[in-house]
Amino acid sequence: MRAEIISIGTELLLGEIIDTNAAWLAQQLAAAGVDVFFRTTVGDNVGRIAAAIQNAMSRAEIIITTGGLGPTVDDMTRQAVAQAVGAPLVLDPELLAQVRERFAKWGRAPSENNVRQAYMPQGATPVENPVGTAPCFIVEHQGHSIFVLPGVPREMKHLTETRVLPWLREKLGDDSIILSKTLRTCAIGESSVDEKIQDLETSENPTVGLAAHPGQTDIRITAKAKTRAAAEKLIADMEARVRARMGEWIYGEGDETIAQVVARLLTAKQKTIAVAESNTQGKIAAWLRSTPEAIDVAEQLVRVTDDEVNDQTARSIAKTLRAESGADIVLAIVSTMGAQDMYLADTGKSVIALAANGKTRCYTYSIGGTGELAQHWTASRALDLVRRALL
Ligand code: ATP
Ligand code: MG
Repeated sequence: MRAEIISIGTELLLGEIIDTNAAWLAQQLAAAGVDVFFRTTVGDNVGRIAAAIQNAMSRAEIIITTGGLGPTVDDMTRQAVAQAVGAPLVLDPELLAQVRERFAKWGRAPSENNVRQAYMPQGATPVENPVGTAPCFIVEHQGHSIFVLPGVPREMKHLTETRVLPWLREKLGDDSIILSKTLRTCAIGESSVDEKIQDLETSENPTVGLAAHPGQTDIRITAKAKTRAAAEKLIADMEARVRARMGEWIYGEGDETIAQVVARLLTAKQKTIAVAESNTQGKIAAWLRSTPEAIDVAEQLVRVTDDEVNDQTARSIAKTLRAESGADIVLAIVSTMGAQDMYLADTGKSVIALAANGKTRCYTYSIGGTGELAQHWTASRALDLVRRALL
């Protein structure tokens, strides 16, 4: 089943408010196993809202609109829905009673504007809105169900939870569920990951998607099935294929960070670590210390000139630090100043010396400026080298 979300309000188009309603609705629909292929934002204009609804009906069975249901003249959703389905707006006695009742509680009579809220497209089913004033309704039209919800987030959420989602679950006839699993890689870029698993990314169920972050790329596998066990099986099969391709580039899963994995390995293998960092703002030591294992890192901040950024310098810093700290594993990182601009980070160079398991090796990377992105890459790479040495 396909659904579309239409967010209504000129403030949304002007960027004055952020469309948190659509993001929240999209999450709920995904969790319910409903596909959302399009989302529309439209201003307070009857013709354009009606056109957006008609467009949505050409592509989806379920349409959910939010906003524009208030009593003021610029709230046009009611008329627009009526126009889109070719039905007249009629006064609904039930809604009128609700409006009257609400105003009676306040000891007032509804104004002409408030009475406007009691109008619905003919044939629509009114939905009571116990948390707000804007009444809402559902229109069934030629195999489409249009849920017309208020814009106020609290009201929209309440009505989605109590009306829309139960309706969807009943309609779907099964409790089809969606499960996701994230495999984490680091020190490898999104395009390199993509090269290795391109063909898997075209799979429809489960789907395989990539998300790039500084210094790391996530591989997210999402499966849809009628039972949890079936979804888990789909994910497990795809995970095995992804792992076969990615090998030891995958350092962890779920929310695990590379520092957490390294900290766990250090603790399990009872190894100590010392780090000398330049141009990473002490990130490696800070990351390791803030893990649940609270790794005790012997730390040295180093300053080198650009022409000292070479194997020899890195090796000699590692050697000194190893002698001074007595640590089992020593990282020495020297980087050129590079560019300040994070998007120009590859104008620099980093050399990482890793002393572990009785030998010292140097690794050179053509990234390594002083920008935040470069720091993340360098720190992630260095920690990944430690992880591999510990395995
Ligand atoms: P009301 O009866 O309160 O006027 P309404 O259905 O007419 O409700 P809008 O007037 O469109 O809704 O929006 C009311 C308020 O709800 C907005 O001022 C804004 O703060 C919030 N809102 C509306 N749409 C969204 C959205 N898509 N995402 C987040 N907040 C929204
Ligand atoms: Mg309004």
